[in-house]
Amino acid sequence: MEITFLGSSNAFAAEGRYWSSFLVDKKYLFDAPPTLLPHLKQLKIPLTEIEVIFLTHHHGDHFMGVPFLFLEYMYMTERTNDLYIVGPPGVKDWIEDFADRCYPNITRDAGYRRIYVDASPGKEQTAGPVSFWSVPMCHVTESMDAFGYRAAISGKTVAYTGDTMFCEEVIALAEDTDVLIVDCTYSEGCGPEHMGLDDVKVIRKRIAPETTMVLTHLGGQPHLDGLANVVTAADLKTFTF
Ligand SMILES: [Zn+2]
Ligand SMILES: [Zn+2]
Repeated sequence: MEITFLGSSNAFAAEGRYWSSFLVDKKYLFDAPPTLLPHLKQLKIPLTEIEVIFLTHHHGDHFMGVPFLFLEYMYMTERTNDLYIVGPPGVKDWIEDFADRCYPNITRDAGYRRIYVDASPGKEQTAGPVSFWSVPMCHVTESMDAFGYRAAISGKTVAYTGDTMFCEEVIALAEDTDVLIVDCTYSEGCGPEHMGLDDVKVIRKRIAPETTMVLTHLGGQPHLDGLANVVTAADLKTFTF
């Protein structure tokens, strides 16, 4: 399984890094930041091979790139195969409305289907060829739902926290995973609304040592001394597992 990070920072583009997002096996996209389209093109990803987009929550650094992809499929890159978009309940209305505000009527028929899947925690779901689980996370809970996802791809299991504070659900999300992609906004300490290096240390102790942790949504470069099997993401870098 190949995981390519399009970006590795938080909403503030800390240290000039781009917003967090990654692509698994060039087909499965986790979050869609504003810089999605230029980065897919820099990496020469075949745009029609993106099969599923998992959106964790409604913050702009995680979804605002989607309308540019619709625009691309309307005018520049012919697409006929289905595109699955997974997100918090109501994801269809939210994304279609947002895209139409960016480019009026961009959601009209363009020769392919967009199939939306509401995350439904507590059961296995499918989006095209991928089976996945969603787990509710703990991130600005007063204003929106946020989900972590665990997906089986290429015989491996990858999980992604999206944005969250530490909560027991993070441990549940990590169960039986080969790779856990983790919000590590704070290079020291922890919280509010996100995790930090102190949380990473707790998670490392509590989950299986074989699970590789990849830190993203970085507000800086954390010092990982003494932490086994933990690495930091970097913009446009590919990891193979
Ligand atoms: Zn974020
Ligand atoms: Zn957020």
